Amino acid sequence: MFRLTRTALQSLKRVRFSGQQPTWRQRSSSAREEALHYQPGQKIHGFTVKEVVAVPDLFLTAVKLTHDKTGAQYLHAARDDSNNLFSVQLRTTPMDSTGVPHILEHTVLCGSEKYPCRDPFFKMLNRSLSTFMNAFTASDYTMYPFSTQNGKDFQNLLSVYLDAVFFPCLREQDFWQEGWRLENEDPTDATTPLVFKGVVFNEMKGAFSDNESVYAQHLQNKLYPDHTYSVVSGGEPLAIPELTWEQLRQFHATHYHPSNARFFTYGDLPLENHLKQIQEEALSKFERINPNTEVPSQPLWTSPREDHVTCSPDALAPDPTRQNTLCVSYLLGDITDTFEGFTLSLLSSLMISGPNSPFYKSLIEPKIGSDFSSVVGYDGSTKEASFSIGLQGMAEEDTERVKQIINQTIDDIIENGFEEERIEALIHKIEIQMKHQSTNFGLSLASYIASSWNHDGDPVELLRISESVAKFRQALKENPRFLQDKVKSYFKENAHRLTLSMSPDEVYLEKQAKAEEEKLQEKIRALSDGDKKDIYEKGLELLAAQSKTQDASCLPALKVSDIEPTTPVTHVQMSAAGGVPVQYCEQPTNGLVYFRAMCNLNTLPEDLRLYVPLFCSVITKMGCGALDYRQQSQQKELRTGGMSASTQVIPDSDLMDTFEQGILLSSSCLERNLPHMFQLWSDIFNSPHFDNEERLRVLVMMCAQELANGISYSGHMYAMTRAARHLTPAGDLQETFGGMDQVKFMKRIAEMPNLSQVIRTLPRIKKHLLNPENMRCAINATPQKMSDSAAQLESFMKDVAGNRKERKPVRANILNKPLDPLDVSGPSRKLITEPTFQPCQMKTFFQMPFPVNFISECVRTVPFSHQDNASLCILARMMSAKFLHGEIREKGGAYGGGAKMGGGGLFSFYSYRDPNSVQTLSAFRKGIDWAKSGKFTQQDIDEAKLSVFSAVDSPVGPADKGMGRFLSGVTDEMRQSHRQRLFAVDHKSLVDAADRYLGLGQRTCGVALLGPENDIIKKDPSWILK
Ligand SMILES: [Zn+2]
Repeated sequence: MFRLTRTALQSLKRVRFSGQQPTWRQRSSSAREEALHYQPGQKIHGFTVKEVVAVPDLFLTAVKLTHDKTGAQYLHAARDDSNNLFSVQLRTTPMDSTGVPHILEHTVLCGSEKYPCRDPFFKMLNRSLSTFMNAFTASDYTMYPFSTQNGKDFQNLLSVYLDAVFFPCLREQDFWQEGWRLENEDPTDATTPLVFKGVVFNEMKGAFSDNESVYAQHLQNKLYPDHTYSVVSGGEPLAIPELTWEQLRQFHATHYHPSNARFFTYGDLPLENHLKQIQEEALSKFERINPNTEVPSQPLWTSPREDHVTCSPDALAPDPTRQNTLCVSYLLGDITDTFEGFTLSLLSSLMISGPNSPFYKSLIEPKIGSDFSSVVGYDGSTKEASFSIGLQGMAEEDTERVKQIINQTIDDIIENGFEEERIEALIHKIEIQMKHQSTNFGLSLASYIASSWNHDGDPVELLRISESVAKFRQALKENPRFLQDKVKSYFKENAHRLTLSMSPDEVYLEKQAKAEEEKLQEKIRALSDGDKKDIYEKGLELLAAQSKTQDASCLPALKVSDIEPTTPVTHVQMSAAGGVPVQYCEQPTNGLVYFRAMCNLNTLPEDLRLYVPLFCSVITKMGCGALDYRQQSQQKELRTGGMSASTQVIPDSDLMDTFEQGILLSSSCLERNLPHMFQLWSDIFNSPHFDNEERLRVLVMMCAQELANGISYSGHMYAMTRAARHLTPAGDLQETFGGMDQVKFMKRIAEMPNLSQVIRTLPRIKKHLLNPENMRCAINATPQKMSDSAAQLESFMKDVAGNRKERKPVRANILNKPLDPLDVSGPSRKLITEPTFQPCQMKTFFQMPFPVNFISECVRTVPFSHQDNASLCILARMMSAKFLHGEIREKGGAYGGGAKMGGGGLFSFYSYRDPNSVQTLSAFRKGIDWAKSGKFTQQDIDEAKLSVFSAVDSPVGPADKGMGRFLSGVTDEMRQSHRQRLFAVDHKSLVDAADRYLGLGQRTCGVALLGPENDIIKKDPSWILK
């Protein structure tokens, strides 16, 4: 995986979690207290302890060590969290754009000395209960993290990771498969033309089809033109074919060495065991070297620079005539200065975040562009940080105006500074972030410290956030112009700044295809007949290797018997407040209170359903009660950890054609702010503001832009949603709320010259949705705060009682399901049921401006509580690992592909950034034949079970405990029954399930494809073209 980091924490949004999250287990002896017993100077397994620091803010103890022989650095964060994490990070500083660190990141995972089987990394996904496994290439480091809640599993994964990183095979064949190669289009036919293939080659073509990534890449390359940041660490598609296997091995020898490594461990497992294993299995085998990988400081410019780049036009952009991007990027200070970094990142938030910030007022509100440029604000991922400000979705003729506004705004800030209340709101936000227990805390920490540590900054200092806060308050007290002075020196008087514009070029894709073709011909011209024969034979060899059944027995594995037999129980209490059902769940929330309300939309007229996502996007942002939208935003930041609304389509666990529809309101706050938070909700219920057209237009444009930008990143989700559309009533609504239909609808709204019709629609939706009659609530808080929370909720319900009105549901068939299965006469969820629903087959093709495809085929099967659902879950996992991965990724060259059993009883095949289209559809078919033939082993089944259970048992944070039950009515008992059915799945039930549900002729399936122009599909009348 390749990522261009923005700020470390922000970039986590883009990390692909495999749907897994951590648990909080209370232990009798605290890992955090035990770690305090280490002494500086103490020697442990070849390491010396350098520093031991309690970090009470984050509930952890940090232990810093150095490896004596090699100089490898080590940081352990002891914390009472069972979701333990390991990561090793190497400083990788390439000097060309061949993508050498990225291709290396892929190839080291293809087999190592102790684990020589092909692809141990992907195989471990099925032999472990990991909660996260991945690898990333950033601009100047490569990181290999994993996490798991099981101690034995931790050892197994650690062994595989260490061997992969320090002793990889790096076979030539791995380099061809993962990097690039010339090969006959059909490798079995020497007469077919030679083409470029390779996983990274295709991945980067995909990454560069996203205009936001293109822009971010150029900006970084041009702002730091003198060293490693001037090249593309992920690989520029046309430079990748310049890399040789020899260069790859050389890069490994110099960069993947302990003297160039930083190890990080996190969680409640004992540090000494980790050190012992790392020493014995890896570090003891090395001597110290001088890796010479430092990044020198960027020489400063004496005058500002300007540059221009082009991109492909975006058919889904909200306004096709406004597709230009312009931003000014400033070089800031060295990120290893922790306090300066803290100050600048805070300053950046003050300048750009939310409707009260000066740049929001000066750039967003005049609607010159659709949103800020994709790169915006503080970026601490390079040795010297940067700050960028600008717009996307703007007209070319506004260029000068935007530049002038940016300069003017900076002058205004220097003159006026910031309101004290905004600074307080920001510090409040930091307090909430420290208290909120995210389920991937270890991973967040690893990412948070990675960049500064990479340049020898002190990671422990970074963790001591309240010290920085205190220092910041002190600095402000001593000099009220502290922030203004920073703005003056870093922005006004800084000559090292780049103005970069980007505009669409109608023939951009053509030009790129032509350049690729030229590169290809250049390579082919250099080949002798002997070379061509060689290529053909190597292609066959690779195909044979990919098709061979793999012996993975060298790899460690957990057994099915290592899986916990029972689901842990979450206690909830059912009650009522003001006539509305409430679920209370006591949790160790560190003094935060989490509030949710589910409001069904059964009474909403059908023609308004398309507007519901827009309603959710704006309902907490337009102002309410006596507050205009600016004041509301300020109050939200000062008093809450956020307030939001989202659409919900919840399939029933028993019936395929039954589902619940609604919106979920969510918010959190510190205990002391509970009354303020409910006051804000009361105002939203009682008197939301909808009539500010200017404000609405800003929000609409940002939504439309965000949706349009997201497609090239999550195209497979859009393909899956579309493929499911005609298979169940829930699938249909899902497409309305979050599919291509919604993207196009928002584009239409954004293009409307006048939004008065939308302004008339929103209050109508509000009447149906914010109605206590159709509502149920949930509260997660500490036991001490529960009764107070209940009292506050009671008074909130009283405040909004005027919105209560009984209305007739729009659809006739409503199914009542009791919230508490033991109390059938108690309050219930009201589900829509369509017993006469007729699923139908449909194949839809969306032509998109991407060079790669996203494909999905979706099959209607059985719901959660059905006996065969468990078999289908295991089957999807097994087909992905044992068949589809090989066909779609290894042979086909797609970035990813597989099958997945969805919550609504829909079995979906998919591919991600795929150079093929019809070939992948036939790989799906072949996967079904493979499953029906039963040519898989007990080992294959057990591995699929491990993999399914690692998702089922993924940790849930205190904020989200009990939420599954609250939303979908699935109780711990129902979960336990499903668990037992998963354990019971065997060879016969898998073959039966494949035959019964996926077998040709009996299937009810849909297909959707997003991709470039496609002649085969165009000629096939069974496809609908969009
Ligand atoms: Zn990659």
